[in-house]
Amino acid sequence: MVWRNTFLDPAQPGGWALLYNQQHFLADSNGVLFPRDWIKRQDLPIIGEQGIGHFGDDAVYLLQLKPSAMLDGCTWQSLRQFMLQGDAETFRMLAYAAQIGTWYAEHRFCGSCGAPTRQLPGERAMRCDSCESQHYPRISPSMIVLVTRGDEVLLARSPRFVTGVYSTLAGFVEPGESVEHCVAREVREEVGLEVKNLQYIGSQGWPFPHSLMLGFHAEYASGEIVMQEDEIEDARWFRVDELPPLPASRSIARHLIDLYVARRLGLPEPTLPA
Ligand SMILES: [Zn+2]
Repeated sequence: MVWRNTFLDPAQPGGWALLYNQQHFLADSNGVLFPRDWIKRQDLPIIGEQGIGHFGDDAVYLLQLKPSAMLDGCTWQSLRQFMLQGDAETFRMLAYAAQIGTWYAEHRFCGSCGAPTRQLPGERAMRCDSCESQHYPRISPSMIVLVTRGDEVLLARSPRFVTGVYSTLAGFVEPGESVEHCVAREVREEVGLEVKNLQYIGSQGWPFPHSLMLGFHAEYASGEIVMQEDEIEDARWFRVDELPPLPASRSIARHLIDLYVARRLGLPEPTLPA
């Protein structure tokens, strides 16, 4: 089944419902999609509703619930779990749904004047009639980079990572800065190295909660590793044939590593998951 996001009018009946709150979806043994007309007859605290797209041929609606909401036989499951375990198209659907849910939850009141907003029909926009501003889903650009030195790659651990896992460096683009400048700055701040010959590899939407990751390879230029306190717990050079535990296979972090290793060892190149 293929996921395609589009705008659907919630006034239409039928379709499937996703039940969402704060990066979590209600799920039972059949998954995350519930018959929408049936769901509407249950006594659930619904905050808002958006028509978000089609899964295969079926219309899908996002129902935003209060955290207290519960259905018999269901549990709240995190978006992260679906990234690690779900199939790719289901994750794409949930990643989109979560970002629409975040946008809606964060813009029910105007950030400029504080008045309540309303959803514009036929558009993904929250409108403030009081000061005539409109609020769209926010995307935050960030960069992710694999620093390389011949047969070695630089990988680091954040204290937030799963035990043992090492990954690439990443950080948010700051106002007024180019992505290339961001790469150089973050590498300098996090591990004290200078890099050169940036190569753009590809991008990936990262719905935790609304990043767009721009992925690079960068060659080591100079410096010794000096780790940034609090951010980096360990950083070191690993040979491409002696790598530590790595991030989940669907992530762009993993793709950057797998691609470099494949090129270095003359193996077929992997493709970046959508
Ligand atoms: Zn306003």
